[in-house]
Amino acid sequence: ARDAGLKLLHEHAFIDGKAVKGSGGTITVDDPATGDILGTVPDLGKTETEQAIAAADRAFADWSGRRPDERAAFLREWARLIDENAEGLAGLMALENGKPLDEARGEVAYANGFLKWFAGEAERMLGETQDSPLGHVILTFRKAVGPCALITPWNFPAAMLTRKLGPAFAAGCTAVVKPASQTPFTAIALVELAHQAGLPKGVLNLVTGDAATIGGVLTASPVIRKLSFTGSTPVGRVLAEQCAPTLKRVSMELGGAAPLIVFADADIDQAVAETIKGKFRNSGQTCVCPNRIYVERSVARDYADRLAAEVSKLKVGNAFDDGVKVGPLIEDKGVDKVEDHVAKVKAAGGEVLTGGERHGLGGRFFTPTVTFGGDDALFREEETFGPLVPVFAFDTEDEVLDKANDSDLGLASYLFTRDLDRAIRIGRRIEAGMCGINTGLMSTPVAPFGGVKQSGYGREGSTHGIDDYLDIKTLTLKLG
Ligand code: ADP
Repeated sequence: ARDAGLKLLHEHAFIDGKAVKGSGGTITVDDPATGDILGTVPDLGKTETEQAIAAADRAFADWSGRRPDERAAFLREWARLIDENAEGLAGLMALENGKPLDEARGEVAYANGFLKWFAGEAERMLGETQDSPLGHVILTFRKAVGPCALITPWNFPAAMLTRKLGPAFAAGCTAVVKPASQTPFTAIALVELAHQAGLPKGVLNLVTGDAATIGGVLTASPVIRKLSFTGSTPVGRVLAEQCAPTLKRVSMELGGAAPLIVFADADIDQAVAETIKGKFRNSGQTCVCPNRIYVERSVARDYADRLAAEVSKLKVGNAFDDGVKVGPLIEDKGVDKVEDHVAKVKAAGGEVLTGGERHGLGGRFFTPTVTFGGDDALFREEETFGPLVPVFAFDTEDEVLDKANDSDLGLASYLFTRDLDRAIRIGRRIEAGMCGINTGLMSTPVAPFGGVKQSGYGREGSTHGIDDYLDIKTLTLKLG
């Protein structure tokens, strides 16, 4: 997988169907497991971003004017090439992101699921007909909003891109993509495959370089009609503000601080296993990772001890080593943050049940950690984004719901109980866009994904995911 991945590593951007190197400046990309340099990408700026926008603009009329089934056929061909290159893409992703190879393979399949799903949605962009009280007949059509800017993070280098490009292309939009500087190679490889699949030039452009510069040009442009952003809440706020003068459509998939609640009637072994699946995905670096665990007091210590026993068995290491479940964090500052959160739990009287320190491998590795007790306030607002599971005890349903909802963020939430009444009662009252009941994993192309409050707005995936890329056009006919 590693060698196949290196074969897909290209050190260039894409504008108007052509590989672009820019005027010489580069950004280095490293392997987070070793710190070794993997390669460079061009440090592009205002000029190239404007060229990419102009290319997306030129390509829009033809692409949006094609029959939906033609765009669906393209998405299917692209998906076929991704399947054919799955091992290389997984290897490349594991190299630049550090996630264990099996997880990277899983992400490639998940990412490709969006292209396959939205190929189907392209063929179902239904309009409506209605009689009007004025005696007219109303026909609605759904039309592509226009060229889009798509800005994606490093934690899911493939899936965050296809979750946006699938619906954008199905709808007939063209795009300028800016992948995260830490993980641009997976995105570049996907764009390369899109062109091999026959995508017309200019429909998909990819620029690399200083994020604020590129983001500034993309958001200021009146040609770009929509921004879809996945990343941190502070950057999301800045981008939303920058989109206001041109009144762009905006989708924001931002941070979370997901509560995971375990009631005494839950299957505790299942709750432990699912907590681990949710928390340690991508080494704890996902916006839907459980960030704070609340367990009913009578079972809290038992749950925490069983969790600590299982977590202490998770193998930490390089993405390509056998049996590795937890990789390195993407950056040094990510490790500092986990360390800081552990220190704060301890300072508030919490106990470290396992882990609690940097891993013996050094570098960006941190030992998977479970803590018990202390103050949960920090975890209501700040995502740890690393392998720390802080467990807190609670006494009543109202108390835990108050704590769960006392956050500016509201993306994912999790609930473990065998009481169906309670599952639905709390599931509906919890202030989050998504609630997993007796499961720690809920992301799939067919489920709506997105948050409430300062976790953002808009939904990706599912039958709703295409709506953000479509405008409704109304025709009103006066019949003779
Ligand atoms: P993360 O914590 O996941 O790195 P960021 O919000 O910093 O979250 O990054 C998500 C994406 O947003 C990345 O592609 C990053 O390069 C980009 N980004 C960061 N700052 C800006 C900015 N000011 N304008 C536009 N894009 C930005």
